[in-house]
Amino acid sequence: MELEHYLSALLDDLKRQHRFRGLTVVEGDQGAELLHGGRRLINFSSNNYLGLANDARLKDAAIEAIERYGTGSGASRLITGSMQLHERLEAALAQFKGVEAALLFNSGYHANIGVIPLLADQGDEIFSDALNHASLIDGARLARAEVKVYRHLDTNHLATQLKASRARKKLIITDTVFSMDGDLCPLDQIISLAETHDAWVLVDEAHATGVFGETGRGVVEHFGIESRHPRLIQMGTLGKALGSFGAYICGSRSLRGALINKSRAFIYTTALPPAVAASSLAALEIIRTEPDHKARLWGHAAYFLKKLTELVRELDLGMVVAPSQSPIIPLIIGKEDKTMRISQTLFEHGIWAQGIRPPTVPEGTSRIRFTLIASHTLAHLDTCLTVLRKCLQK
Ligand SMILES: *Cc1c(COP(=O)(O)O)cnc(C)c1O
Repeated sequence: MELEHYLSALLDDLKRQHRFRGLTVVEGDQGAELLHGGRRLINFSSNNYLGLANDARLKDAAIEAIERYGTGSGASRLITGSMQLHERLEAALAQFKGVEAALLFNSGYHANIGVIPLLADQGDEIFSDALNHASLIDGARLARAEVKVYRHLDTNHLATQLKASRARKKLIITDTVFSMDGDLCPLDQIISLAETHDAWVLVDEAHATGVFGETGRGVVEHFGIESRHPRLIQMGTLGKALGSFGAYICGSRSLRGALINKSRAFIYTTALPPAVAASSLAALEIIRTEPDHKARLWGHAAYFLKKLTELVRELDLGMVVAPSQSPIIPLIIGKEDKTMRISQTLFEHGIWAQGIRPPTVPEGTSRIRFTLIASHTLAHLDTCLTVLRKCLQK
């Protein structure tokens, strides 16, 4: 078969289904406003929750690390790539999360595909929320265990599946904050089910680290769950609220040791550059000493959710604001083409709020997903609501 023929047919197919996606390039840094085509747009699509991705202290830390340690790590961690900054960051993460040990991965995607096959194998069972992130789904596929998908947030369904299971090892995997809906998993109930049914729980705190809990540890802290709970394995990322890059798995010292020895996504890849570890360390220090960024973010989220809900109710166009419990606030529109049209109109009027459609979300639930960040101003939020009103009225 001719390669070009295959590829162009594939792309044509996507275009026919209105599912073709391209890349939109940002010309400046990742702040509350983004530069594109020489125009400034207000950014409602970033996971840079605390506004740290262009913070001077993270930049300085990275520059200093480059001066001292160079740009590349040169090898994987088990060869010569394990550098002091990696170990320092892992110790700082373990302390931040209140656990014995942490291990860095090159991204959240790597972390999830790296940890799940360690915990479950042929003959074991994995219990997975229906709306879990693709990286958890792919990790479960790599594990070769049987996967049971339970209805989104439905602990009764999960309990039924656990009760029926005869597997030797049972692993529950879940996002703590669901990235396309902004809702939370009922982690307290999931943990108690794990205790009753002798299961383990892997939580993905990608959208929660730095955002949830008194000290920003995540949803585990939000629910008051013991961070050293013996059935708990925690994953978090450094590229979202922490404004840097990479991810970690944390828990016991033996978890760390097992991952170093067994996890292919850890072993067979070049270690993170030292500058990236340095900016993550700087971000952790800011989270520890400046809780006002998180407070500001939550103020924005509450304000925007309230105003958007009022607007949608007033206009009465059959759209709904998802019951968000986080700074991710989706406006569910339903049809794909309508969603993408609204998103495009917003874009033309200076608002960057991504339209999200299948396969990322279920059929008929296409949405505009607004994410708030601490570095927004109230004027940013009001401008967005005004533009959206005009857009929807048309
Ligand atoms: C973003 C995300 C990941 C992947 O993390 P990266 O560091 O971006 O690879 C994993 N899980 C969830 C829930 C995410 O939102």
